[in-house]
Amino acid sequence: MQDLDLMKNMPKLIVKWYQQNKRELPWRKEKNPYDIWISEIMLQQTRIEAVMGYYERFLKSLPTVKDLAEVNEEKLLKLWEGLGYYNRARNLKKAAQIVQEKYDGNMPKSYEELLELPGIGEYTAGAIASIAYDEPVPAVDGNVLRVVSRVVASKKDVLEAKTKKEFTEKLQKIMPKQAGDFNEGLMELGERICLPNGEPFCDKCPLQEICLAKKEGLIAEIPVRNAKIKRKKEQKTVFLLECESKIAIRKRESTGLLANLYEFPNVDGKLTKKEIEKVLQDWKLQVKSVEKAGTHHHIFSHVEWDMVGFKVSVENVNDKFIWGEQQELWEKYAIPGAFSKFREKM
Ligand code: SF4
Repeated sequence: MQDLDLMKNMPKLIVKWYQQNKRELPWRKEKNPYDIWISEIMLQQTRIEAVMGYYERFLKSLPTVKDLAEVNEEKLLKLWEGLGYYNRARNLKKAAQIVQEKYDGNMPKSYEELLELPGIGEYTAGAIASIAYDEPVPAVDGNVLRVVSRVVASKKDVLEAKTKKEFTEKLQKIMPKQAGDFNEGLMELGERICLPNGEPFCDKCPLQEICLAKKEGLIAEIPVRNAKIKRKKEQKTVFLLECESKIAIRKRESTGLLANLYEFPNVDGKLTKKEIEKVLQDWKLQVKSVEKAGTHHHIFSHVEWDMVGFKVSVENVNDKFIWGEQQELWEKYAIPGAFSKFREKM
């Protein structure tokens, strides 16, 4: 049977299931494109449960496009602290500035216009246009790819762009009038029922009668994910510097990974005791004691950091770093997850 023949019954089944089973989520209360946009950007790479608190805080602080367009970067990054992928937050602001200027603060109303904004790709444009305006365009993420691959028992690699393109084109041909409910239903089905790891809950799935992977016993093999991500591996020695009740952080470079965020002072490589002493000397710090403060392995999209921490008690502060009381620094500065793991050692 052709893929489209299998897929043509999906909209009716998914929309009905979604309307009866959807979760109450804060961004679903009103079909406000701004709220949907913020939630969709936050939900990239992050689970719904983890996003909830961030979303409420962000919307409370920046409830409109204008507020986002005018927010200063420090505050924006602080609101984003812990979510990772900080360029997403910067792109939100850039896009908000364009919406403010070009559309008088009203989110554009079509997929094509949304796609022109920084940080909004095909998936996000499709999600906003379909959920807020019921524009019949697909929104294809990993959950959707998994469900569709299983329904048609496709052995194509879902990590390849051409597979995504092919499924997007097929979904485009079956989009119903209730485009928002269909897209949200597909995503939610992938998240709650057609699970990526372990057994999916096929007995609760509205697609169980048409799903070829289920019929042919291929669920464990689909979706196929072959493309491997090669990450660069880097080592870091991190210094948790303490001078009486004050600790030290510094601002990162204005470009590159984690740009403009704050971090504990650190150097590349795993240093020997001698090298540590030399670094502290170069920083003009009189050392009282040095003790190990654990390790942390942090994975970014293209690089992995193997980090080893040292807690160093010093006699004096220097003018190289920002020194302050812990509480004050945590409240004021955005410290990314890679470093916040060492916070508990302070
Ligand atoms: S029947 Fe099972 S494998 Fe098929 S789409 Fe539903 S949950 Fe996924």
